[in-house]
Amino acid sequence: METLSESLFYAALRQVIDPDLGKDIVTAGMVRGLSWNAETQLVALTVQLTTPACPLKGYFTERIQAAIRAHVGENWRVEVQFTAPSLARGADTLPQIGAIILIGSGKGGVGKSTVAVNLAVALNRLGARVGLLDADIYGPSVPILLGLEQAKPTVQEKDGRPYLVPLSKFGLEVMSIGFLVPAGQPTPWRGPMASNTLRQLLTETLWPELDYLIVDMPPGTGDIHLTLAQQFRPQGVVIVTTPQKVALADAEKALRMFQMPLVQVPILGVIENMAYFWTSQLPTQKFYIFGQQGGHRLAQKYNVPFLGEIPLMEEVVSRSDAGVPVALEEGMPMAEAFLNVAGMLVRSLARHKHNLVAAS
Ligand code: ADP
Repeated sequence: METLSESLFYAALRQVIDPDLGKDIVTAGMVRGLSWNAETQLVALTVQLTTPACPLKGYFTERIQAAIRAHVGENWRVEVQFTAPSLARGADTLPQIGAIILIGSGKGGVGKSTVAVNLAVALNRLGARVGLLDADIYGPSVPILLGLEQAKPTVQEKDGRPYLVPLSKFGLEVMSIGFLVPAGQPTPWRGPMASNTLRQLLTETLWPELDYLIVDMPPGTGDIHLTLAQQFRPQGVVIVTTPQKVALADAEKALRMFQMPLVQVPILGVIENMAYFWTSQLPTQKFYIFGQQGGHRLAQKYNVPFLGEIPLMEEVVSRSDAGVPVALEEGMPMAEAFLNVAGMLVRSLARHKHNLVAAS
């Protein structure tokens, strides 16, 4: 048997490929704190993931185990721990927030808010610290979707200035213009006023340290989108659409707006909501009532990731109305769909971040 040395372990670990980076985990600099005990045949290491809430922990553990057994000895046990770097956006505004991710759509009513809330829950279930900002200031629905209609944020002083304290619900830190405007009251703001309000909501909220701040944007393209893109440098935007032609046409406009030189927010991907109707009474059937694969095609046309499909299900409506997001329900197919999409999203973000690093 080859004498045990660090290089033997590293040779084994070089067999484990990160599917997003297309590199082995040693070359990608992801292996930390390798140690082993030949007597007990135990090796321990830490893998630095590319982004918090990365869904590949099980994948890496399995492959590392197999590689060590194949290269070092079949009785070896492996202990793998995971860390993730802070996504630090630099010392600009909101330095305590790792990544700001916008959820946008072309049209209203495509399920943008539903997706934003459930994605936030799913990211939290994957292990990330998540905030949710309801920036849909013309029709804030986050208070209803999270059962927070009666809630009011408190005010706390910091460095002599008053800040709003976000509300905590289902593991999320939440702020919405809906908490500040009486329910049912319209918010007929003009562009500049709307942008100002949003800027205040972002900067005058006492956000704790977060990996991700999910921002539910107003539909369409306008001043608010420009303000956010230029002043807060979000890490990316996700476009939500249904497969219907009219929704797709508007989603395409929104996507192109985020790509414009003045805006330039990276497109992390497209989510197709209400992709097909599904009911547990006819579990083998999918009803494509709004057409098929429109979201896929949009993603292909602009060469951006397709993050997944969310079916149209009655449960989404009943849970939304009850203020309990479906993504919270363990084992429910709908919750799994949101966990998958959340996993795809953080992987897209990691790939994007890596490309930026490699290119600079
Ligand atoms: P938007 O933010 O784009 O205006 P909402 O999230 O408010 O859209 O959703 C509009 C309506 O569609 C709501 O009644 C919501 O419950 C419903 N809805 C959204 N997504 C789904 C889905 N996947 N299945 C069933 N109903 C959905």
